[in-house]
Amino acid sequence: MVAKVIDGRWIAKEIREDVAKQVSKVKKEYGFVPNIATVRVGSTPESDIYLNLRDKACEETGIFSCHVDLPENASEEEVVDAVKNLNEDDDVHGVLIQLPLPSHISHDTLISILHPKKDVEGLHPVNLGKTLLGEEDIVPITPLSVITILDYEKTKYEGKDVVIVNHSNIVGKPLSALFLNRNCSVCVCHVYTKDLKKYTRNADILVTAAGVPRLITKNHVKKGVFVLDVGIVKTKEGVCGDVDFSSVKEIAGKITPVPGGVGPVTVACSLKNMLKTFMKCVGEKHR
Ligand code: NAD
Repeated sequence: MVAKVIDGRWIAKEIREDVAKQVSKVKKEYGFVPNIATVRVGSTPESDIYLNLRDKACEETGIFSCHVDLPENASEEEVVDAVKNLNEDDDVHGVLIQLPLPSHISHDTLISILHPKKDVEGLHPVNLGKTLLGEEDIVPITPLSVITILDYEKTKYEGKDVVIVNHSNIVGKPLSALFLNRNCSVCVCHVYTKDLKKYTRNADILVTAAGVPRLITKNHVKKGVFVLDVGIVKTKEGVCGDVDFSSVKEIAGKITPVPGGVGPVTVACSLKNMLKTFMKCVGEKHR
C-alpha cells in the first residue's frame, strides 16, 4: 500500500479563495475590511518567515495586517499595555501574539488580557473553554487546520482511535477536545510517554507535533492509518516534520508531507479566524 499524499497547498488555496470572497462581501456591506494586528516582541528568523507568509496570505485575500513591534527587552508591563490598547481600538478587529516571546514575558498573561472577541488564535480561556465544552467558536488555529484537512478528506470520526503526539496548550490539548467532540477515542502522548509505539500503533488517525525529525517510523504505525505531521523542524537538509515520510508512506492510507501539508492550511485557517473576530467586533454593532 502506498499512501495518498495530501496536498495542503491546494486545500489552503481553496480556503484563501473562499475567505477572499467573504472579505469582498464584508467590504461592500461595511465599507472597510478586517484589520488584524500582530504583537511581536523581538524577532527570530523562524517567526519572521511565518509572519511574512501570513502577511502575504492576508494581502491576497484583502485582509489588512499590521504589526506592533516591541524590542526584545520590552517589559511585560509595556507589552500588556500594547495589548490593552489594541483591545480598546475599534479599528482593530483581531489580535495575534507572535511566538516565541522572550522568557521574561508570559504568553498566558498576554492571552488572558486579550479581549476574547479579538482572539484570532482561539487561545483565550473563554474560547478554549468553549472548545472543550463542544461549543466550538474561535478554535485554535493549528488544531483547526488538522480537522480541516480531515474534513476535506471526508473522514468519518465516530469511534476512530486517535493518537496525538503533543500535549501543548496550542496543539495537543485543544486538538484532543476537537476529536472528543467528534466522538473519537483519544490518546495523548508526549515526551514522558514510556513506550510511544505501544500507543501510535493503535491509531486510525495519528497526529504528531513533537518537533523531532524521524520520531515516527514505519514501526510506529499500522496499515491504513491517516498520518498528519504537524512538526516543523529546520535541518541542514531543509525543513522536515516528525515523520520518516518515505518509509511511513508505504504503510499509511493517507499522509501529509512537510513542507506542503499542515503548514499552509494553518496559515489559511488563521484567515478564517480573522474573519470570525471581524464579524464579532463589527457585525453585531452594525446589525
Ligand atoms: P511544544 O514544545 O510546546 O510541544 C512539543 C510537544 O511534543 C510536547 O507535548 C512534548 O512533550 C512532545 N514531545 C517532544 N519530544 C517528544 C518525543 N521525543 N516523544 C514524544 N513526544 C515528544 O511545541 P508546539 O508549539 O506544540 O509545537 C510542536 C511542533 O509543531 C513544532 O515542531 C512546531 O514547529 C510545530 N508547529 C507546526 C504548526 C503548523 O502549522 N504545521 C503550527 C504550530 C506548531
